[in-house]
Amino acid sequence: MKILVAGGAGYIGSHMVRMLDTLGHAVVTFDDLSAGFREAVLGGVFVQGSLHDKAALKELFGANQFDAVVHFAGSIAVGESVRDPAKYYQNNLTGTLNLLDAMREHGVNKMVFSSTAAIFGNPQYVPIDEAHPQAPINPYGMTKWVTEQILRDYDAAYGLRSVTLRYFNAAGAAPDAALGERHDPETHLIPLALRAASGKLPELTVFGTDYDTPDGTCIRDYIHIVDLCEAHLLALQHLISAGESRAYNLGNGQGYSVKEVIEVVKKVTGMSVPVKYGPRRAGDPPRLVADATQIRKDWGWSPKYAALETIIEHAWQWERH
Ligand code: UDP
Repeated sequence: MKILVAGGAGYIGSHMVRMLDTLGHAVVTFDDLSAGFREAVLGGVFVQGSLHDKAALKELFGANQFDAVVHFAGSIAVGESVRDPAKYYQNNLTGTLNLLDAMREHGVNKMVFSSTAAIFGNPQYVPIDEAHPQAPINPYGMTKWVTEQILRDYDAAYGLRSVTLRYFNAAGAAPDAALGERHDPETHLIPLALRAASGKLPELTVFGTDYDTPDGTCIRDYIHIVDLCEAHLLALQHLISAGESRAYNLGNGQGYSVKEVIEVVKKVTGMSVPVKYGPRRAGDPPRLVADATQIRKDWGWSPKYAALETIIEHAWQWERH
């Protein structure tokens, strides 16, 4: 396959590029490096460019005949999206529309799209299956939800087929520590907790201790980056073999509170984690846990690294590396 990975220099995208390249597929990464890192692209061809640059997209699609696009490019921080929604609507919606236009103009009709548990908003029940009502409570989730509707309409009108994968919390690193989570600034719990453990950060702030959960902190479903990428491979195979559009929730089905994550970080690192308790972060639902029964049933997806301890061990090896 010849695959375009939009956002292939980012955390999830770079692991996907490496996996596709290792399996012998031709991969082109398109990334503006606004959030990603050139050195994270460990295989294939790298093209620096922005989804806001229609001429660059035209050139990219003119020069390559892609079988499919895997679309990771976008802004991803819930808290920032509340403070600066314009950035999110511009990057995640305008950027995606430009990418879809280029695909249509060049007859590329398959996309695997990165969506999120944030499209569900405050859950009415957990674990969250695909039938759960969708009502995002932050601009980040809203941009992903709207994109899902766009993809549905583009399939009906233009025959552009897509698989949408709604990630819960992507975490961990490549088991050989060649790649891992890297954001600047880092906002995610596991890397920040590891940095607090190793002394790179003076302390970790826990955002909110008054949620309606057993220990008062938010519960999330952490999924290993490699397991997430495996699901994208299955999605590509499905689309290439003429499968119809689908949307799946993707997580391990096991929720951990912020305090429980900190406990596992202490165990894995053998160090203490200095913690400060702060107010809630805007836009955070109390509990997000996936019901991923559907993708397991349809495609036989099954996580290799479901244990939180393994996820954090790999993240720790990467942090130290
Ligand atoms: N969190 C926290 N302190 C931090 C970063 C995150 O308490 O410094 C919490 C956050 O409020 C959420 C959970 O950890 O409940 C996971 O947050 P993260 O940003 O890693 O992922 P998200 O759930 O936003 O995708």
